[in-house]
Amino acid sequence: MNYQADQLLKALGVTQNGGRAVRSPVDGAVLGYVHEAVAADMHEAIERAHQAFVAWRVVPAPKRGELVRVFGEVLREHKSELAALVSLEAGKIASEGLGEVQEMIDICDFAVGLSRQLYGLTIASERPGHRMMEQWHPIGVVGVISAFNFPVAVWAWNACLALVCGDPVVWKPSEKTPLTALATQALFEKAVARVRAAGMALPENLAQLLNGGADLGEALVDSPKVALVSATGSTRMGRAVGPRVAARFGRSLLELGGNNAIIVTPSADLDLALRGILFGAYGTAGQRCTTTRRLIVHASVHDQLVERLEKARTQLRIGHPLEEGTLIGPLVDQASFEQMQSALQRAREQGGVVTGGERRLADRFPQAYYVEPALVRMPAQTEVVCHETFAPILYVLRYNELSEAIALQNDVPQGLSSSIFTNDVREAEQFLSAAGSDCGIANVNIGTSGAEIGGAFGGEKETGGGRESGSDAWKNYMRRATNTVNYSRELPLAQGVRFDV
Ligand code: NAD
Repeated sequence: MNYQADQLLKALGVTQNGGRAVRSPVDGAVLGYVHEAVAADMHEAIERAHQAFVAWRVVPAPKRGELVRVFGEVLREHKSELAALVSLEAGKIASEGLGEVQEMIDICDFAVGLSRQLYGLTIASERPGHRMMEQWHPIGVVGVISAFNFPVAVWAWNACLALVCGDPVVWKPSEKTPLTALATQALFEKAVARVRAAGMALPENLAQLLNGGADLGEALVDSPKVALVSATGSTRMGRAVGPRVAARFGRSLLELGGNNAIIVTPSADLDLALRGILFGAYGTAGQRCTTTRRLIVHASVHDQLVERLEKARTQLRIGHPLEEGTLIGPLVDQASFEQMQSALQRAREQGGVVTGGERRLADRFPQAYYVEPALVRMPAQTEVVCHETFAPILYVLRYNELSEAIALQNDVPQGLSSSIFTNDVREAEQFLSAAGSDCGIANVNIGTSGAEIGGAFGGEKETGGGRESGSDAWKNYMRRATNTVNYSRELPLAQGVRFDV
C-alpha cells in the first residue's frame, strides 16, 4: 500500500472500504481500492440524474453558476493534494499534475462567467409585427466517458459547462484512474454541501460517478435518457460509441486520438522550435492526445535540428514523477510499453532509423514501465507513422516545398493539433488558411500540446469532430429553440403563402 496515496485520499475526503485494488504506474504499488458498478447501477443513476434535470433546468443559469464558483474554490483549497494523486495514479510529473488541476479551476472560472452569457440571437422577421429569436435551453442528462491521461480535467471541462447549462452529469472515468475520479467527486460533494450551508437549495445527484469498464460505458451510451454522450479516448472507442449514440438519435461529442505534426521551416527560430518539439513530443511521456508525433523539417535545417534534438532528448530526466527535476514519468502500463516496442519494430521494418525507446529504471521499478523517448528518422510517411501510438515516439520527415509539408501534415486519418515554426508571415498564413492545416487546432511558433481552456478544443476526421471547453462549445450542452412571436392583429404566412377561406 502506498502510504502517501492513503494520506492524500483521506485529505481529499475519499473513504476506502475494499473493492478492486488500483495500482500506480509509478511503481506498481497499490494506491487504494475501488468498487465497480454494473449496468443496473448505471440505469438507476441515469434515472436519478433525470429527476435532478427536471429541477435544475429551471434554476436561473447565474444561480447554477454559484455551485461551479464554489467548486472552483474547493479545488483551489485542495489543488496540491489532487495534483499529487493525479501524479501517482496517471504518472504525470508534478508540474503537469498541478497544471491539470489548474485547468479544472480555469474551466470553473470560465463557466461561472458563461452562466451569464448563454446568449441567443434575435433575427429579423420578414413579417410585420413579428419578432424572431432563439433561446438556448438545457438539453438533459450529460454522460461523460473519460480517458486515463487527463483523469480529472476532461470531466471538469464537461461537467462545469453542463452544470451551468442546466444539465446533470453522470461520469464513467477510465478504469485505469478511478481514485482521482473518486477524489474529484468528493470535492464536488464538498462544494454542494457548502452551497447548501449558505442557504441555496440544490437538487440531489447533479453529478454522479460510476466506476467500471467499457461495458459500464456502454450502458451510458445506450440510454435514451442521456441526451449528450461526451466521450474522450481512442478512435477505437469512438468508432464503437458514435454509431450507438447516433442509432438512438442521441447527441455525441467525440474527442479521440491525434497524430499531431510540427512543421519547421527554413526561417524558424530553431531555439524556440527545439523547446516546443521537446515538450510536445516527450512531455507527459508522449501520452497526450495533442502529443507531437511527427516532425516535418525543411531539408536545409533538418540535420542541424535533428542533431540538437538528439542531444536534448538524451538529457531529459526520466524518473519518479514526484521527484524534483523529473521530466519524463512512466508509461501507464505494460500494454502501452509493448505497443511502443511493436511500433518501433514496425518503424524499423518500414525503413526507419530508431534511437532511444528502451526500457529504463527496470531495476528500481520492476513493476513499472519507464522508457527513453524515441526519435525515428523516417524515409517516408509509412503505415506506422499514420497510426497513433500512445508513447514518446517522434517520427522525423524531411521536406523541400511548404505545400509538400502541409500535404504530409494533412495526409493522416487524424486531425487534432498542428503547428508551424516560421518567421515568414506568408508561410504562417498559408498554414492557417483554408488550404493549410486541416486540424481543429493550428498554431504558429508554439507546439501542438498544452491548449488553453478559452479556445474550443477538438479535432477533425478520426479525432471525432467534437469541440469542448471554451469559445461556444457550451452550445453542445444545450438545445436551441427558435421562437417567432406575432404581436400584430394579422396572421401573415411566411413566403407570402395564402390560406384564406
Ligand atoms: P480508451 O479508448 O481505451 O478508453 C477511454 C474511455 O472509454 C475509458 O473510460 C473506457 O472505459 C471507455 N470505453 C472504451 N470502449 C468503450 C465502449 N465500447 N463503450 C463505452 N466506453 C468505452 O482510451 P485511453 O487509453 O484511456 O486514452 C488514450 C486515448 O484517448 C488516446 O487515443 C488519446 O489520443 C485519446 N484522448 C483524446 C483526447 C481528445 O481530447 N481528443 C483527450 C485525451 C485522450
